[in-house]
Amino acid sequence: MSSEEHVIEVRGLTKRYRATLAVDALGFTVRPGTVTGFLGPNGAGKSTTMRMILGLDAPDAGHARIGGRRYRELHRPLREVGALLEAKAFHPGRSAAAHLTALAAANEIPRSRVEEVLGLVGLTEAARRRAGTYSLGMAQRLGVATALLGDPGVLVLDEPVNGLDPEGIRWLRTLLRSLAAEGRTVFVSSHLIGEMALTADRLVVIGAGRLVADTSVADLSARYGSLEEAFLRLTSASTEFRGSSARTLDAGERTIS
Ligand code: ADP
Repeated sequence: MSSEEHVIEVRGLTKRYRATLAVDALGFTVRPGTVTGFLGPNGAGKSTTMRMILGLDAPDAGHARIGGRRYRELHRPLREVGALLEAKAFHPGRSAAAHLTALAAANEIPRSRVEEVLGLVGLTEAARRRAGTYSLGMAQRLGVATALLGDPGVLVLDEPVNGLDPEGIRWLRTLLRSLAAEGRTVFVSSHLIGEMALTADRLVVIGAGRLVADTSVADLSARYGSLEEAFLRLTSASTEFRGSSARTLDAGERTIS
């Protein structure tokens, strides 16, 4: 896989919901070949940022590009970018196989890929059951299968660990690392620092919509003694003041890169 077309670039990205500045002049770059964790407390702006990267929300300022293009400009989006935004984003009456088959047909993806991704996520046995009967963990697996359907070079996954049991968490971690090792860009959000420490090589940390760190996991733990300490110190002010339009972080002082 080539690399430049798989780079995610976020520049000056800003989104306001009434009094809430959800994302505030955010800038970072996500490169292929490693798992990049997108870390921040609940409400920090991770989902909003990912939605803007995927063209689902319009920024008030700034932009997000994938391989130099906005998501909407991609010719075959499903084959270029795989996304998981929320679990259970499919029709409950349809089986996993039917859901994936319909998506494959609409996107000129070979039917054989459906069985392949069902196998990859461990849903082969349950593939013909109605997805509405799935546990949250199984729904997440179907979400990951959907993201992988087009064999994309870029993956954007919002809290994929939610609802997975320990075996599922380990499975997903191994999968994400192998996808990155194949040269893909893997951008995965979480509010769980421990999980990110095991999964990601790099971390983009945000608090109150602003960048507070953009560095390697190793560097961040070394600077603060532990990753947990780093996370709490870097994001504490943002958590306290979350939800108001007041910004409490001085990015210049607090950003590590
Ligand atoms: P995270 O994914 O880090 O938990 P979000 O991006 O979901 O954070 O939310 C960031 C902030 O924007 C929060 O204060 C949230 O309440 C607010 N927000 C997100 N989406 C909306 C929306 N559609 N309308 C109003 N406020 C929103």
